[in-house]
Amino acid sequence: MHRTHTCGELRLTDAGTTVTLSGWVQRTRDLGGLTFVDLRDRYGITQLGFNMERDQALCEQARQLGREFVVQATGMVKERESKNTHIPTGEIEIIATELKVLNRAKTPPFTIEEDTDGGEELRMKYRYLDLRRPNVRRHLELRHRMAIAVRNYLSGQGFLEVETPVLIKSTPEGARDFVVPSRMSQGEFYALPQSPQTFKQLLMVSGFDRYFQLVKCFRDEDLRADRQPEFTQIDCEMAFVEQEDVLNTFEGLAKHLFHAVLDLEIQGPFPRMTFNEAMRDYGSDKPDLRFGMKFHELNDLAQGKGFKVFDEAELVVGITAEGCAGWSRKQTDALIEFVKRPQIGASGIVFVRWTEEGLKSTVDKFFSPDQVQAWAERSGMRQGDLLCIMAGKPDKTRKQLNELRLHMGDLLGLRDPKVFKPLWVVDFPLLEHDPESGRWHAMHHPFTAPKPEDADRLESDPGSVMANAYDLVINGTEIGGGSIRIHEREMQERMFRVLGFSDADARYKFGFLLDAFEYGAPPHGGCAFGFDRWVALFGHRTDIREFIAFPKNNAGRDVMIDAPSRIDAEQLKELGITASS
Ligand code: ASP
Repeated sequence: MHRTHTCGELRLTDAGTTVTLSGWVQRTRDLGGLTFVDLRDRYGITQLGFNMERDQALCEQARQLGREFVVQATGMVKERESKNTHIPTGEIEIIATELKVLNRAKTPPFTIEEDTDGGEELRMKYRYLDLRRPNVRRHLELRHRMAIAVRNYLSGQGFLEVETPVLIKSTPEGARDFVVPSRMSQGEFYALPQSPQTFKQLLMVSGFDRYFQLVKCFRDEDLRADRQPEFTQIDCEMAFVEQEDVLNTFEGLAKHLFHAVLDLEIQGPFPRMTFNEAMRDYGSDKPDLRFGMKFHELNDLAQGKGFKVFDEAELVVGITAEGCAGWSRKQTDALIEFVKRPQIGASGIVFVRWTEEGLKSTVDKFFSPDQVQAWAERSGMRQGDLLCIMAGKPDKTRKQLNELRLHMGDLLGLRDPKVFKPLWVVDFPLLEHDPESGRWHAMHHPFTAPKPEDADRLESDPGSVMANAYDLVINGTEIGGGSIRIHEREMQERMFRVLGFSDADARYKFGFLLDAFEYGAPPHGGCAFGFDRWVALFGHRTDIREFIAFPKNNAGRDVMIDAPSRIDAEQLKELGITASS
């Protein structure tokens, strides 16, 4: 037997018991006559005590142990003289009588501690050592608990987990596909699923009216902190439902997760906001509702008074930062610097301060006190507040002000990762116009249905057609989204046409789905949630890589296994592919 207990479970009540533990050497401390070894495993750390007087040979053996050696020790549990209140096993130690080295270890390239000295690159190269760090381990434990809670909840609601294939044909979800060459059909390729979208719809046609899957999806796009080329979705679909049914079901899932995983009760229904309201009030389709600072449009009050920047703008819009009237020139200049960064690209900010001396703006030359007073009223300002106004083209200005709002939220400590504000954003437009290609793109994906009352304008006025599409947003992060789907061949064909597919192309790519819709497809809808993102959010972090056992870096590489990598000429030949370099 390698062990009778783990390194995290012994307590004072076990004193007097003879035990055997196995684990990794966290550290050894040599105090002359005494040597202590901290033994670590997944469950915790237990101190082993060795005494020169009691057993010189054993004590000397303990002194030779290096960090991360794998050892087995047997001894008696004893109350410690100097207790460590920071760890659950801190009241006891094991008076060792036997010690066996199960495996030696090289000195690890970084310290295996919560606060390690290892940089990101090194930790990823030795990810198997990084995963020994307790904080990283806790992230994977959280992920596991969430996965179990998802399965329990959905299974309890009658959902069936069905696996769908990984080698498929392209499903357009707006990203580039990863492709896999076929050996048996040379010159032909599989695509890895961007999501199981078409398969889950086919499962609805098959009569599995409640499907879910914790599933890997693959998208070849530029990476960010909240994106990985392969990621996990909680993918769901339901038949015989309307939007309301879907939202209620998954609000239930979200509440269950908050409760089961974080022990948090979210009271009342999640707020709902239409896409248009979200853009108007927050300049974003994923508003962070942990704090206010709503947008206030000022066009009618600010234009026509001779201030060119406002007069030439299509939108003049401001946010009120509570209690910031006293911000120094240096602080407000830093805000201007922030919005002028190339990623944001704004030209500046007009400020209005309301101090004890009254209202003072950076454009007092152009506006009378009454006019500035009117902006203050519109913007809900009170004494002590700072109003920040931006102007320009509507979409761009809203996006820029959204960046400023989030930045100020950070500066003011209003984005506490332990506070959660979920909401549904609903009523998305079905399509968006791409000025570069002159084409219409599906805002969600091509399988989303137009709202029935808008369907007859699909060809004549595509931009005005709305969809029963929805996103779950928590703290400014899009956690998931979905839609009510098209379930009729004719409508799906019309949609493909609006998206610029020829009929032949649509048949070549999606003939199977169009055919299926002719064999009794029920009305259906669903959604999918980014599991990695959701776990990261519950772990109070933004980088999803911290919650993935073996993630890829920003260049899409796995630096541990060194992938992607070249393959043999022989393998290429079998695939009928010629290497170019
Ligand atoms: N397949 C969609 C996605 O991956 C989600 C859905 O519509 O259910 O975003």
